[in-house]
Amino acid sequence: MSDSQDSSYASPPFDHEKADVILRSSDNVDFRVFKLFLSLASPFFETLFDLPQPSEEMSTDVEIKDGLPVIPVSEDGKTLEPLLRFCYPCTLADDPPLDDFRDVINVLEAAKKYSLDAIARTICKSLFLPKILERDSLRCFAIACRARMQDECILAAKYSLREPLIPTWFEEIELITCTELLSLLTYHKKCGDAVQALKADFSWFTAAYPQWTAAPWMVAMESNGNNCACARSTSKRFTPGGYTSAQWWEAFMDSTFLDLRDRPCVETIRENVEKAIQAVRQRNCRYCSAAAPGGMRDFGALFINKAEELIAKVEPDLKF
Ligand SMILES: [Zn+2]
Repeated sequence: MSDSQDSSYASPPFDHEKADVILRSSDNVDFRVFKLFLSLASPFFETLFDLPQPSEEMSTDVEIKDGLPVIPVSEDGKTLEPLLRFCYPCTLADDPPLDDFRDVINVLEAAKKYSLDAIARTICKSLFLPKILERDSLRCFAIACRARMQDECILAAKYSLREPLIPTWFEEIELITCTELLSLLTYHKKCGDAVQALKADFSWFTAAYPQWTAAPWMVAMESNGNNCACARSTSKRFTPGGYTSAQWWEAFMDSTFLDLRDRPCVETIRENVEKAIQAVRQRNCRYCSAAAPGGMRDFGALFINKAEELIAKVEPDLKF
């Protein structure tokens, strides 16, 4: 009635002439929709539309526009549009692309509010994909917490081990509670501690490298038993067969375990392996430049397996 001239119609398919109700977004966009599609998607809408519809004579506070009741909703058009697209059959509307995190949160919250559970699950599936989790694990974590989605929350927490223990600020951090953040940090710290067991008990290593001949470059020797050009450490840490190890090898092990405290994930091991290979190549030891890269990558695979086993045993304490 009075403010209908201020509202505009949404674009197709939400401007259909045969629609039987209008949903008006908080920013005054009118979506002409079919009750049936929304009722089938959500018990919330079913109940809403089952309420006696006002007639023009008896109602003064419900607007009628073009002969259809107008139901105001608190979501803006940008949130309502994708939500309605999900409710409609795919022959009438494609599922919307959701590539902006803010939009995803709003749509997800609206889906929860309107009991659109299947849609909430669809949105989650589109978000919690490896390629998105690898890049934005903490943002995904925040969204999962906000939406109270336990499995997705744990999945995102696992991916977040690739980030430093104290992450840089991200916008969605404001969506999570201090308790949730503390749980995440505790989990991260526990994983960092768990991996250190590989440093304390070296049996996994000596089982795979019982003799120096299994990896002569580790002890700065050539496979014929001659010393190579690399310096040896004076300590006997990280050594196969009781030999003193190459200095660069010991430095690699020390820095990897240190980095694993901050980022307890396989990427940390992989990166340190590649860094060590680069350093060996730069030092121009003729023997190690040829032998160490392959040997280091084999060792890296073993290290990764063992680290993954230990990290997998740590359970995030995240319950809603
Ligand atoms: Zn060497």
